Amino acid sequence: MIHIDKEACIGCALCEALCPQNFKLNDEVKAEVVSQEMRDCVREAKDNCPTMAITID
Ligand code: SF4
Repeated sequence: MIHIDKEACIGCALCEALCPQNFKLNDEVKAEVVSQEMRDCVREAKDNCPTMAITID
């Protein structure tokens, strides 16, 4: 499962830019997971999130 820690997310939109198939910013400018399908870009987004708000288990 891909998770976003909404407390940690600063809404920088990097995850959405890197992996729009899986991440979208919501109306509160927090990232949401829109697909749980695992792709290389999910790991890329996780590795590049500035606040480490994305976790995969
Ligand atoms: S990259 Fe991290 S901080 Fe930026 S919007 Fe995505 S989850 Fe939030």
